[in-house]
Amino acid sequence: MVRIAVIGAGAAGLSAAHHLLQNGCEVKIYERSSFVGGQASTFEVLKDIPLERGYHHLFISDTDIIELIDHLGLSSQLKWIPSKVGTFTRGKTFKFTTALDLLKFSPLNLIDRLRLGFLSLYLSKISDWHNLESSTAVNWLKNFGGQNIYDVFWEPMLQGKFGKNYFSQVNMAWIWGKINTRFASRKGFLAKELLGYPLCSFGTVFDELVRSIKKKGGIVELSREVTKIISLDQDQKVKIISELKADTWQSPTKHDFSPETIEFESKEKNIHTDEFDAVIVTTPSYVFSNIIDNIPQDYQTSLLSQNYLSAILLILVLKSPLSEYYWLNIADRKIPFVGVIEHTNLADPSNYNDKHIVYLSNYVSKDDPLLKKNHKDLLDLYLPHLKKINKDFSKDWIEESFYQRVDAAQPIVGINYSSQILSHETPFPNIYLANTTQIYPEDRGTNYSIKIGKKVAKLLLTNINKTLY
Ligand SMILES: Cc1cc2nc3c(=O)[nH]c(=O)nc-3n(C[C@H](O)[C@H](O)[C@H](O)COP(=O)(O)OP(=O)(O)OC[C@H]3O[C@@H](n4cnc5c(N)ncnc54)[C@H](O)[C@@H]3O)c2cc1C
Repeated sequence: MVRIAVIGAGAAGLSAAHHLLQNGCEVKIYERSSFVGGQASTFEVLKDIPLERGYHHLFISDTDIIELIDHLGLSSQLKWIPSKVGTFTRGKTFKFTTALDLLKFSPLNLIDRLRLGFLSLYLSKISDWHNLESSTAVNWLKNFGGQNIYDVFWEPMLQGKFGKNYFSQVNMAWIWGKINTRFASRKGFLAKELLGYPLCSFGTVFDELVRSIKKKGGIVELSREVTKIISLDQDQKVKIISELKADTWQSPTKHDFSPETIEFESKEKNIHTDEFDAVIVTTPSYVFSNIIDNIPQDYQTSLLSQNYLSAILLILVLKSPLSEYYWLNIADRKIPFVGVIEHTNLADPSNYNDKHIVYLSNYVSKDDPLLKKNHKDLLDLYLPHLKKINKDFSKDWIEESFYQRVDAAQPIVGINYSSQILSHETPFPNIYLANTTQIYPEDRGTNYSIKIGKKVAKLLLTNINKTLY
């Protein structure tokens, strides 16, 4: 039987493993954290209640993960809920739930509001994005929408997603992808957007997927970090060296929904070596470049040229709701966070003991001073600003708070990005790469990781079958 190793038990790795097992392979998954789900994993926010480390929802166009949820028998848990979106600017919150709300967006004059509406509609009608990627979003939006709409609407949105250092590099095809997914989640231009959320949590979806993987004979090794991948010349097999590690995920939270307890022994006993016919790597590109042995210089340069942002999240469990919005873009740069995502305005508070759960989010580059701040520093920095959003907010509302940091959370997609995307096939025989840098022009998301996991598994099977017959 063909033996395959999958590195990473996030959406892409689990999806690849699932597909390989369905096709009769023997599969071992290595995951350095003590839990599965990667960026979409959960922690225990309230007793026995899981919550994503970073807010998560689905769009109607996310068909690969919707199918998977159905396949796992969890479709009754997936709820589609009208989203409530707003923008906070000039001391006020403006509703942005339907296209008609745009007409009331007073920071723009009426002509600019209409122009913004037509521009968004025009972008949603473009079917071929290729011509858009040679222009930065900044230049394209200024040229086609004008400086004022850019300053008031687009720049805060771009800075919110890509931070001050990188937003000007992002190409226009990325904005096109974003607008298209949002339009696809509406039933008509004037209709409300619907967002999906599995009430059992994304973590439970991945735990269920692991159960299915194990039932088919798959092995899932948690808290096991791959430290070296060696391509063996003689028989084109691949050697994996891994080490049992304490959790490397940046999280002060005490409890994770981890199915196994790990005993840590001496360093030598913690190191394992194993050999496989092929390997699928789903780690960020810079991790792959560190662990692959004998890397050619040009391939290393390509892997390391991929820049990512980290996500920093402060999660508050409140007695009272902060706002009526699920998603509030903060377009006021005096406020030190860029998004307020009130999860319980998507999933009902009754699922969380009637508490209200709010994420305050930032995306930052590795040199951003925010990364040096700890949980308490962030509370001190952020909380005074919440009164701007709800004048009644008081610190007494906070019952619990959590800090989460997710590295490699957002790849930066610069101009002509499609020509820089690395192939799933690497320079090493039988070693494949499937990570978020290869998702384009759509924004990265669980759906697309499930999709590339399946795609790379199919490619591997086709190639292996060619060598066998
Ligand atoms: C704040 C935030 C909000 C998001 N919101 C949404 C949303 O609303 N909807 C949506 O669909 N998506 C959302 N996403 C994106 C989505 O979570 C990711 O795109 C997706 O989960 C990525 O899956 P992946 O398997 O490709 O990568 P990852 O989840 O990063 O998985 C890679 C895995 O590899 C492991 N690993 C790394 N190095 C090693 C090693 N050396 N050895 C062993 N294991 C290793 C990691 O621990 C990790 O588990 C969000 C992400 C963030 C950060």
